[in-house]
Amino acid sequence: MDEIWKLAEDNISEYNLDLKNNGIPIRNREEHYLISFIPPLLVWDEKATKKNFYCVNNVHLYLHIPFCEIICSFCHLNKIKLGSDHSIVSLYVDSIIRELKYYFERFPQRVTIKSIQFGGGTPSILSARELDKILSAIHKYFIIDNDCELKFEFLADTNPNKYADIVNILGDFGKLKGVVDLQTKSSEILKKIGRKKQTYNEYLKTIDFLKENGVGEIITSLIIGLPKDSRGSLESTLRALASHESVSTITGYPLMFKSSDPLFRLLKNNKEYFLSEYERDVMEEFMTLFMKEHNFIESPINFFSRTNIDNIQQNGKYNSDALIGVGAGAFGYIPSKKSQSQYINTPNISHYINSTKMNQLPIWKSTDLSLSEFKRKKLILKLGTLESFEISQELQDKTILNELNYLSKLDYILLYKGRCRLLPKGRRRYTEVGTFLMDSLSINKILSYSEHQKMIRSCDFDLFPSYDTNQLKNILQTKAYL
Ligand code: SF4
Repeated sequence: MDEIWKLAEDNISEYNLDLKNNGIPIRNREEHYLISFIPPLLVWDEKATKKNFYCVNNVHLYLHIPFCEIICSFCHLNKIKLGSDHSIVSLYVDSIIRELKYYFERFPQRVTIKSIQFGGGTPSILSARELDKILSAIHKYFIIDNDCELKFEFLADTNPNKYADIVNILGDFGKLKGVVDLQTKSSEILKKIGRKKQTYNEYLKTIDFLKENGVGEIITSLIIGLPKDSRGSLESTLRALASHESVSTITGYPLMFKSSDPLFRLLKNNKEYFLSEYERDVMEEFMTLFMKEHNFIESPINFFSRTNIDNIQQNGKYNSDALIGVGAGAFGYIPSKKSQSQYINTPNISHYINSTKMNQLPIWKSTDLSLSEFKRKKLILKLGTLESFEISQELQDKTILNELNYLSKLDYILLYKGRCRLLPKGRRRYTEVGTFLMDSLSINKILSYSEHQKMIRSCDFDLFPSYDTNQLKNILQTKAYL
């Protein structure tokens, strides 16, 4: 394994990721910043859309279950800790069913669903009856594709038998995938992030139980650079996961968080628990090399699967299929007349329940992307597939081509005979490359909003990425010179 570590170090040195002042955002250890290249809805003021949607072919469904048994310190997802009173979950499930019905009414005909994902929060908190109600509503309001993939997240538990009834109901789906996250094998790190009862032992018990009960594939995520993480703990986690045949897909992302997340306080007080940016890069590169060595295929980015696995939901995301997001804080994007409507639901669970009771779509913010924003979003996502693709007619735009040429000169992407693909250096800075490729008007909107930082701080819900305004200004200057 030493050779792989050595190769990872050599690669990172060769990529020269520290190159400054070239307009590509620079990562910074202090913030572990969380950025996004999808134009954030925070900068649009439009109210909930009331329009009907256009009929689409490739539609995926995401259901957000925002209740958790534990709260992990790295997590910036929309969730609350569920106490002993489960009654809020039943009310929430009724709201989900109402929201599904609204979408049924807004499409001109029943839509066929290619994949369904229950995420959260912790979907395995649902009772079998609640899950059954949601699945029955999906069957009632949509057509389920014959090859529909169903992804369902389970929390690792010392007594996984408690999931027997849920698994029984889910078992009706042919392509059932259980998502059980581990994050790391190290008990010490798990304790530091609030997952002391979700140890590797509990993880193993849970995936063994799921496998024995007919869950065909297991997807597991891990995070690189958690407090007290090290090369040793990453290697040991990867070895354990790769050798477990039940685990079909492993995803691994470097730790990123916002100043509002609990981990930020730990970073301020115990910097020594956190790795340098260089070390996190080497570890991420090691993961890529290690997975390849163990015959896993990476596609899309940071998503490693055994050879025969088809990831319908994940690939749909990168192919810009439509996504109906349902639940508090869920995000969705659906074709509109000219490009694509994006929306996010209200994250507050009481607001969410109340608006569905009042027969309103619970959308908090929504916008139609401009044509330019939409084609750039598609371009960035295509790069994330890691495959070579033809630069289509709609991308033959002088500004975009100039920017692609610039990225090619810096070795982030390869441009060759009208085709394009992300290079290994670009893979290590994919989100940053995507941010660089964002539409200038979108960046300007974010910047003008950031002038009112106080408004952002007083915002009830911190669901949005934070941007470094100096870096955004730097991007605009660089683009202006191209
Ligand atoms: S990581 Fe999962 S279990 Fe932990 S707080 Fe976030 S949603 Fe809940």
